[in-house]
Amino acid sequence: MDTTFYTFLIGLIYLAAACCFVIGIKLMAHPRTAVRGNLFGAGGMLLAIIGALFDAQVAAWNNPAGPANAGYTYVVIGAIIGSAIGAWLALKIQMTAMPQLVAIFNGLGGAASVVVAGAYLFTGGPDLVNFDVLLATALSGLIGGVTFSGSLVAYGKLQELAIFDKPIALPGQQIINLVIAIVLLALTVLITVSGPTMDFWLVALLFFVIVALSLVLGVFLTLPIGGADMPVVIALLNSYSGLAAAATGFVILNNVLIVSGSLVGASGIILTQIMCKAMNRSLTNVLFGVMGTGSSGGDDDAVYANVRKTSADDVAMLLDGAQRVVIVPGYGMAVAQAQHAVRDLGNLLEQRGAVVEYAIHPVAGRMPGHMNVLLAEADVSYDKLKEMDEINPTLETVDVAIVIGANDVVNPVAQTDPQSPIAGMPIIEVGKARTVIVIKRSLSPGFAKIPNPLFAADNTLMLFADGRQAVLDIIRAVKEG
Ligand code: NDP
Repeated sequence: MDTTFYTFLIGLIYLAAACCFVIGIKLMAHPRTAVRGNLFGAGGMLLAIIGALFDAQVAAWNNPAGPANAGYTYVVIGAIIGSAIGAWLALKIQMTAMPQLVAIFNGLGGAASVVVAGAYLFTGGPDLVNFDVLLATALSGLIGGVTFSGSLVAYGKLQELAIFDKPIALPGQQIINLVIAIVLLALTVLITVSGPTMDFWLVALLFFVIVALSLVLGVFLTLPIGGADMPVVIALLNSYSGLAAAATGFVILNNVLIVSGSLVGASGIILTQIMCKAMNRSLTNVLFGVMGTGSSGGDDDAVYANVRKTSADDVAMLLDGAQRVVIVPGYGMAVAQAQHAVRDLGNLLEQRGAVVEYAIHPVAGRMPGHMNVLLAEADVSYDKLKEMDEINPTLETVDVAIVIGANDVVNPVAQTDPQSPIAGMPIIEVGKARTVIVIKRSLSPGFAKIPNPLFAADNTLMLFADGRQAVLDIIRAVKEG
């Protein structure tokens, strides 16, 4: 086939892949179309892989007569192993562990960018040492390295590994980080400007130093950040992994990698901004604020002195006279897998004449949209899901607010204690409702590890039980009542 036409055809496949990615992102903006969006994204990725495998550059490498003489064997073996691991993870992973999985994916994306850019530099050898390749390679090493190690730390924090229990910061941490960042930038300039005239092995050594320092920087940047800020960090690392991929796209001159990396970079930054807004924090504050070292929210015994317990039968009686009920789901609903029972309770109350809505906090659960996904899975109609800003001004007219497995997102300390780790985070102001029922197993704290005075408020009753079992008991009691 004519080479120009062949290149045009590959370009066309890449363009189709990029279009699929953009359409996929657009469709993912709404739960109703999100599954289709995901399919578009996956389809785009398939096209990108097919295009890349037949790209003249890759095809030449795989040609038995070509420079690497590798054949497609390694590619096929790699694809089989990768797909098997991906499928296994997708089937096995618990919904509650999804953020950790995203953290690992981000990290692997960063690592892949470093490895591909590095491999290109080393296998291409001295011939490839020119200005643009060197700049892109150094940036891949830098951003990819930070993404990889930062994501591993984020994974550890989300997995609640004991060593990451408390935010860790060295004395003068920010100065150390600044010095490392300046050294990294200086090395990037050095490798880019002087690389073409340097001995190749010195260039290679510089690349190694950049990657090593970036790995250290990634750890240092993420370690001091408290657990409550992890969603923002994950979104930011996601953006970094995209930028690293885009830089690698410039190294190997692959358009679809540049486009998809830029899309991930841009969407990650937008998500970061949305998350910061949801927690009422600036990005600088999240990254450099050394979270979690502020007030612990007070002594548990003092805060919980007036806690009142209730039972499923009593809750059923309260619900009997309720005109308007709001259900506030949180992480515990995901742990208890209570979404189907919650839907059944909502439907039952509606049949009995109550208006039932679901109040969704943007960072409830452990990933953006976590509650929306669970309730959508249980076929709760989207128009019943109300965002925090929409529901808060109306909570005074609510007869019963049922908080199921939510804690930090309803903690009034966010508004009352400026030293609290969640200070300034907007909350669902359930305390305004006539009666608040909180379903959880104990008085244990939530993700931010602070007590919640809502549990001891005059209008709050605690139903201590597993979320799913408690809702099933309430349903039974309502039916019997
Ligand atoms: P929290 O983590 O604050 O609280 C969850 C509560 O659920 C716990 O207090 C726990 O209490 C209860 N629980 C656990 N298992 C069960 C069960 N089986 N049945 C009933 N209750 C249960 O959750 P929120 O959703 O309120 O807040 C989310 C927090 O996570 C925020 O701090 C947010 O910043 C953070 N975060 C959010 C991410 C996101 O993107 N959404 C990502 C990462 C972190 P008990 O043990 O007593 O039952």
